[in-house]
Amino acid sequence: MRQEYTLIKASRLVDIQTSKVINDAAVLLKKTKIVAAGPVASLDVPAEEHIKTIEYSNKTIMPGLIDCHVHLISLGDGRAGDDLNLLPDEVLTLQAAKNAKMHLQSGVTAVRDCGAKNQTTFMLRKAAEMGITDTPRLILTGRPITIIGGHLSYFGSPATGETECRAAVRQLMKEGADFIKVTATGGSTRTSFRYHASFTKEELTAITDEVHKFDKHVVAHCSSLEGIENAIDAKVDTIVHCMHFERDGTFNYNKELTKRIVDQGIYVNPTLHAIRHQVWHLENLKETTGLSEQENLGYERLKQDYEIHAGLVSRMKDEGVTLVAGSDSAWLNYKMGEFTHELEAMKSIGMSDMDVIRSATIHSAESCAIDDQTGSIEKNKSADLIVVDGNPAKNISDLWNVEEVFKDGSIVSKAQ
Ligand SMILES: [Zn+2]
Repeated sequence: MRQEYTLIKASRLVDIQTSKVINDAAVLLKKTKIVAAGPVASLDVPAEEHIKTIEYSNKTIMPGLIDCHVHLISLGDGRAGDDLNLLPDEVLTLQAAKNAKMHLQSGVTAVRDCGAKNQTTFMLRKAAEMGITDTPRLILTGRPITIIGGHLSYFGSPATGETECRAAVRQLMKEGADFIKVTATGGSTRTSFRYHASFTKEELTAITDEVHKFDKHVVAHCSSLEGIENAIDAKVDTIVHCMHFERDGTFNYNKELTKRIVDQGIYVNPTLHAIRHQVWHLENLKETTGLSEQENLGYERLKQDYEIHAGLVSRMKDEGVTLVAGSDSAWLNYKMGEFTHELEAMKSIGMSDMDVIRSATIHSAESCAIDDQTGSIEKNKSADLIVVDGNPAKNISDLWNVEEVFKDGSIVSKAQ
């Protein structure tokens, strides 16, 4: 008979609420939920016959990681979204299942998918609910809402005018969306204008107003100042990328917009490694096969963009913005299962290890509106936990060494 309770003991536990590490700690689970956590000696433990004890000596227990920005259908092989979109939905759904499992096994127990083609991610959820495949907790938009020809418009939900914008929200809600992703500027999509606002303020406001009527949240992709301003005016809940570029691509820091982001409590997902990995990729090519003149220009621009963006993110942090960790993998060459790259990048702009952990757990959970269920080790939350070899509160890179993953109280299989 399976015992009703599980006691997980470890040398350390990361307490998210107090930002402290507790030594000689344990977490008590009852089936899928957390019952108690703290120093072993302080726990009220049920009689031995009801309990299964697992001990991890010289390891750290912490909440499962929450990646607030993924694209599960992407291959991470460098192909642009415009080309990814040409693959059949069936292939993309299988890829999403593979990515979801890889991310889960690496310690990510919840993901917010910020845009997929047609029904692919909804189909993945259906398969996961049927027990066909293992995934992290899935927070889905299904398709992002875009303008015609705008960034990610190939995924299937372009909308024009306030009426169509509201209709697009209602359609996605009917299909099971947990939130709405909207592209407020262009991006890597070939037919889009990277630094221009896409939707009008009125259209964007119609989207957020409609989403909030469903008690759901809005995540806006913003590659430029125009988009950020529209997104703030429209009262979106999270801004991704949040780049301070003018229409012509020149950088121009806008302190006033940062203040408005702080005042409105908007989360910012800075996607640092999403840029840095492209710099690394080209650097690698430069050393091995060499770069064409065109590629070299791209490389120089990306390197400069990364330095600018890293400086900007550091400044936003200092001015009080709540940064939330999201990888944007498996977009371009950023493979899934490597969320720690983003966390290391966040540390490199001046965040403490503990602040990075909080941005990848409780703050990410708040941004995804799942903090009532997960994001910290607290009574009645789901038992989404990871056991790490080392101490990530002192060295975030120890998160490359996740030894065990628990989702809803069950150990995640390491089988491929
Ligand atoms: Zn993205």
